[in-house]
This record gives sequence, structure tokens and C-alpha cells, in this order.
Amino acid sequence: MNFLEEKILTDGVIKEGNILKVDSFLNHQIDIDIMRQMAYEFKRRFRTENINKILTIEASGIAIATLLGDLYDVPVVFAKKSETANSTDDKYVAQAYSFTHKKMNNVFISKPYLHATDHVLIVDDFLADGEAAHALIDLVHQAGGTVEGIGIAVEKGQQKGGGELRAEGYHVESIAIVESMDWQTQTIKFREQPAQPLQNTNLRSI
Ligand code: 5GP
Repeated sequence: MNFLEEKILTDGVIKEGNILKVDSFLNHQIDIDIMRQMAYEFKRRFRTENINKILTIEASGIAIATLLGDLYDVPVVFAKKSETANSTDDKYVAQAYSFTHKKMNNVFISKPYLHATDHVLIVDDFLADGEAAHALIDLVHQAGGTVEGIGIAVEKGQQKGGGELRAEGYHVESIAIVESMDWQTQTIKFREQPAQPLQNTNLRSI
């Protein structure tokens, strides 16, 4: 079991409706040590990709994205959510249905922050139906940029997002993949993943 799976088992709370709450270390309070380990793990898993920008969506992806941006020494951009954003000359706009809030969000990025020369690593806290990830991909493509990979902290493997994105040919890496969870017994099963070597600080120089 890896560091994130262990953390989820000790501190995660399963809610009715297939929701995993991880407020104590990711979605409300932020455990910097866990964020740092995730950043190193993403850098290791995406070591063959050439990345010059980290992209996420507000709000909970920002912490992981920031530490990853530090590790790669590249800019971090987060897409903003808005109920009102319409396409304009100065913004790229896409739509994403929110699984947790059950509503459609417009997400946008101001044009100066995304370019055709960008090789983007998309990161987010959760992957469920893939709405947020697809909206971010759409924004990168509107700018003419390239999506090099998608790094997710927690993928909910019972939902369609991960399968769809991999079938579309994207390099998706999720540090923990929930295979099943039960709110009544508070039990959770993770998908087996290849063994991961211990982190080492040389990753900074990869
Ligand atoms: P998707 O867009 O892939 O359908 O859903 C991903 C987004 O929904 C994430 O950015 C995350 O904010 C939220 N989300 C989906 N499922 C969960 C969950 O079980 N727990 C939490 N905390 N957030 C979730």
C-alpha cells in the first residue's frame, strides 16, 4: 500500500452517495508532507514527459499543483470556475458538470496564461466522471497546447472518468485508485498498482 492509500485508510471518511471525504489532509486542511510526496510521485511517474506548465482547477488541485510546479520549476495555472463566464476574446471557456455540487460550471483561463507552446501536466485531487479533466483538456486544446499527462491524487475507479481518458489515449496516473467503498462499514478497496520505489530527492533533477 502506498503513502496516500494508507492516509486515506486512516483519515478518510466515506459518505453515503459514493463520496470520499479527505478534508483533514487534502480538501480543507492541507498536509504538506502528503502534498510533497504526491509531487515527487507524479514527477517520477511522468519522468518521460517534457512538461513546461502545470494546470489544475480551483480549488483543491491548487496545493498539489503548486508543489509540483516548484519541483519542475514551471508556472502553475488554475482554471477558474464561474456561473457566468461566456466565451470572450480574452478567455478560453469550457464546461464541466460538478459531481459533488450537482451543477454545471463554466471554467475559464485568461488567454495570456495558456499557449500553443505549452506542454501541460494536468493535476487534480479527484477523478470521478472525468468532467473536470475533460474541461481542462478542452482549454489546453483551445490554446493549441499539448496535454502530456493527467496526474490525479484519488481516482474513483468505479466511475467512468479514468477509463474514458485512458481509452482516449491520455497518460493518466492516479496515486490511489478506489475500486470500491462502503459507507456503512467504512471499508475501502484499492486497485493494485505496480510497486513504487521510495521517493528520493534526486527527482528534483530529473
Ligand atoms: P469529475 O469531474 O471527474 O466527475 O469529478 C472530479 C471532481 O469532483 C474533483 O475535482 C473533486 O472536486 C470532486 N469529487 C468527485 N468525487 C469526489 C469525492 O468522492 N470526494 C471529494 N472530496 N471530491 C470529489
